[in-house]
Amino acid sequence: MKSLFFTEEHELFRSSLQDFFKAEVTPYINEWEKAGKVDRSVFRKMGEMGFLSLEVEEKYGGMGADFMYTTILCEELGRTGSGGFATTISAHSYLAMNYLVHAGSPFIKEKYLVPSVMGEKIGSLSMTEPFAGSDLRAIRTTAKLDGDYYIIDGSKTFISNGYYGDYTVAACKTASGISMIVIDLDAAGVSRSKLDKVGIRCSDTAELAFNGVKVPKENLLGEEGKGFYYMMESLQVERLTLAQSNIGLMQYALDITLQYISERSAFGKPINKLQVLRHRIADMATDIAAWKSFMNHTSYRLTQGEHVVKECSMLKLKTSDLVNKIVYECGQMFGGYGFMEEYPIGRIYRDVRVMPIYGGTSEIMKEIIAKIVIDKKSYKPVYKA
Ligand SMILES: Cc1cc2nc3c(=O)[nH]c(=O)nc-3n(C[C@H](O)[C@H](O)[C@H](O)COP(=O)(O)OP(=O)(O)OC[C@H]3O[C@@H](n4cnc5c(N)ncnc54)[C@H](O)[C@@H]3O)c2cc1C
Repeated sequence: MKSLFFTEEHELFRSSLQDFFKAEVTPYINEWEKAGKVDRSVFRKMGEMGFLSLEVEEKYGGMGADFMYTTILCEELGRTGSGGFATTISAHSYLAMNYLVHAGSPFIKEKYLVPSVMGEKIGSLSMTEPFAGSDLRAIRTTAKLDGDYYIIDGSKTFISNGYYGDYTVAACKTASGISMIVIDLDAAGVSRSKLDKVGIRCSDTAELAFNGVKVPKENLLGEEGKGFYYMMESLQVERLTLAQSNIGLMQYALDITLQYISERSAFGKPINKLQVLRHRIADMATDIAAWKSFMNHTSYRLTQGEHVVKECSMLKLKTSDLVNKIVYECGQMFGGYGFMEEYPIGRIYRDVRVMPIYGGTSEIMKEIIAKIVIDKKSYKPVYKA
């Protein structure tokens, strides 16, 4: 049947991506999990294939592709079965680069976007601080203009790609409010420490300290004082891409479970003949189909230029819960093997715990949805204004 949302070109892109991940990613996931980092060479390889620059304008080396390509990329990131790999790539492309694309000057685009497209520079986004996570207006990091430079002081925490990456897009307090400033992570006065995590272990997560860091004033993104609005806008795409990866992860968990229960026997027959397990599979397959359909529809509306804040929040909220539920149920079908490191379902179980936390917690998603549904609050696009 002809797809409502994807063309033949989209599907060709999906198969080249699947081939690439099969050859260059899945065989190395366990190694990267142990090392606590994704090998840097993957960024360059993905850059060469154009996978890091789908929506970037062609004049900056990008593909100039529509958002349905991103939808495919993020779903397939999830289908690699590694939340850590998906987080690493998403933090670069959909957290850091997203700001460069929408708010970056030609100078910023040449200096940071072009090497990011090629996978030569790795980006991160620094919003969260030790005393400000959900409440982003409470950030304390300051950027004081001194001649041609901003002097940055403060600290950030839980920053994906912050330890091994090259630059960070940081939310800082300037004279006119919160502003987004690009900071080189090898600059004098930056120190970083790596955080140890429960899951997504191959994704590097760092605490950053800025001590009198001198940053050229040209590194300001967009207008001074507009940073909070840029964050609110960019978070929509971040949340939608997280939902897309969640859908991919659920499908991966279901696929490996279907395989396992067809091979494992108990009481003289394969366990996929046990009605209780069959019904659970039926429930899971139905939930995935329903949320995937809503996700594709929302992605398509965004591709058509609609502002879909409510739907992005709903998708982030519900797919984060669902991926946890599905991975738990699938793990149960593996019996003791589901608790063993050598089975990917165990790793995914650890990975998915973070989904209702990062990119905005589930409680914050409910706040946004309630404001729209009950108080009739409306959100206007920022970048297009
Ligand atoms: C692995 C990982 C990677 C991350 N990557 C990044 C990154 O790359 N860049 C970045 O900037 N951040 C990143 N984060 C940070 C993440 O976005 C924050 O942890 C998250 O937004 C929550 O902030 P917090 O941890 O300060 O919790 P808090 O804001 O302190 O919240 C604590 C609890 O209170 C609840 N709560 C807070 N306010 C409300 C409210 N108004 N109503 C109801 N409940 C509320 C929360 O939902 C939560 O349950 C990452 C986090 C993790 C764990």
